[in-house]
Amino acid sequence: MDKGWMFLADRWCDEYRNGLEKFLTMAKQHKGDKPKIRCPCRKCRNVKYYSVHVVKSHLLYKGMDSTYTYWKFHGETLPNENSNAHSCCDNEHEINANNAEVNDDEMQEILEDIYWGTFNEEELNGGSNKEVSFRKEDELEKFDRLFKDAKRALYPGCKKYSILLFVVKLLHLKVLNRWSNKSFTMLLQLLKDSYPDDNLLPSSYYDSRKLLGGIGLRCDLIHACKNDCILFRKEYEGLDHCPKCLQSRWKINDGKGKKVPQKILRYFPLKPRLQRLFMSRKIASYMRWHKEKRVEEIGVLSHPADGESWKEFDKKFPWFAEDARNVRLALSSDGFNPFNNMCNSYSMWPVVLINYNMPPWVSKREPYFFLSLLIPGRRSPGKDIDVFLQPLIDELLELFKGVRTYDSVAEQCFLLHAALMWTINDFPAYGDLSGWVTKGKMACPCCNDKTDYQSLRNKIGYLGHRRFLPDNHVWRNDGKKFNGKVERRLKPRELSGEEILKQLKVVEGVTLGKNPNTKKGSAVLKKETGLRRAYFTNYRIGKIFH
Ligand SMILES: [Zn+2]
Ligand SMILES: [Zn+2]
Ligand SMILES: [Zn+2]
Repeated sequence: MDKGWMFLADRWCDEYRNGLEKFLTMAKQHKGDKPKIRCPCRKCRNVKYYSVHVVKSHLLYKGMDSTYTYWKFHGETLPNENSNAHSCCDNEHEINANNAEVNDDEMQEILEDIYWGTFNEEELNGGSNKEVSFRKEDELEKFDRLFKDAKRALYPGCKKYSILLFVVKLLHLKVLNRWSNKSFTMLLQLLKDSYPDDNLLPSSYYDSRKLLGGIGLRCDLIHACKNDCILFRKEYEGLDHCPKCLQSRWKINDGKGKKVPQKILRYFPLKPRLQRLFMSRKIASYMRWHKEKRVEEIGVLSHPADGESWKEFDKKFPWFAEDARNVRLALSSDGFNPFNNMCNSYSMWPVVLINYNMPPWVSKREPYFFLSLLIPGRRSPGKDIDVFLQPLIDELLELFKGVRTYDSVAEQCFLLHAALMWTINDFPAYGDLSGWVTKGKMACPCCNDKTDYQSLRNKIGYLGHRRFLPDNHVWRNDGKKFNGKVERRLKPRELSGEEILKQLKVVEGVTLGKNPNTKKGSAVLKKETGLRRAYFTNYRIGKIFH
């Protein structure tokens, strides 16, 4: 069916009206006895239901949502339903698991992609390095085994499944249905017993994980100071005590037995995870979506790429914008209580990265989120979250300069760049990440020192919202309904990046950590507050994000 008419600017021309009639005829046939159909106009976007008559007037006056090009709610069927990537199926994974779509050939393909991705990078990073070539040997051996397993039949005479494919599918089911490790082992034992002798099934969950050993992504455990002063990495790696608060690194250390650290930060390196995205042909094409497939509609925000900051960034770094594969990330963090909602004594802080290259219906799906850090509790890290973010920041800096990555669609290596563009958080967490004190007289980071406040006994209320109204708005003069005053002030000026950097200069060099020796009212803290008052800034510390 011709769809060109829906993009026409003139909605009263014959072409538009003919196209619309045909569309409505199809919709009428599709609706059957139902009185109403979904309205695909720009305002309703298939969320609201109206009679055909009303929908027609909406489409004439407002026009059709230009992103709605496959009319699935109005009776259109594609020749091949499965090829439609953004059909709104609620659980893509479940469907994949049931359809048994992945066959041995595909398994082989996936392995090959990962293989190329792993080795091309290492070769280019200097093959002469002894350590690298060691690792390479090791990895090669792993892949050798995996390739062999992908060819070995599950049991003699089995044509449908290789041992690798079978275990991968079984593990997938385990994850989807949240089977416990124990139940998985029990099932394996039953299967092993019931299958023909000489079958290759692993006998426990542990063994089946070992079978996939070569392709997992690693997680780093980094010890942290009990008071959040430092991480025991880089120059502090070998220390037994925190150099700032002198607390021991270990909870238990009797000199001979096992040492137990006080706090462990779990870090999931970003680089291999981003590289892995490009190893899968399907996901690698998603990574170009924002530039190659996105339909831009003037006046509509449907993706961060429509936003000001994205466009501004493209202008500033044209070399970054040129390659659609370069990744734009957002960072999100909030505390959560892993044990019990009622028990407030322990909270962990996951830090999650979200990838905005992908279409919105993919990037907001759980499998495409990157868990980057798991910051241990018991108390929230507060402003010391910077300490824990260090490994991530180091990697982001490296990624901004570029990292060799294998692209399985183009079948070649390229220099992958990544930039962190936004943070997503609630207001208290915003305070932790940006260093702005989100309480008191200057709580609003946008209004800055122009924040309008009023003391209400021992609390503070924030007022002056009428400043943001247009110049001649009736509410500006209507003091009676508000605080009895006429509002003449304009909205506060937005601060430029330079001005904010200047404010941050004031608080440079503040030490992080909850060192119990610097108690409230100590000289250090007094100096910090004094500086803030003197320079009219509410930044507590110089931060990475602001
Ligand atoms: Zn409508
Ligand atoms: Zn310390
Ligand atoms: Zn404000």
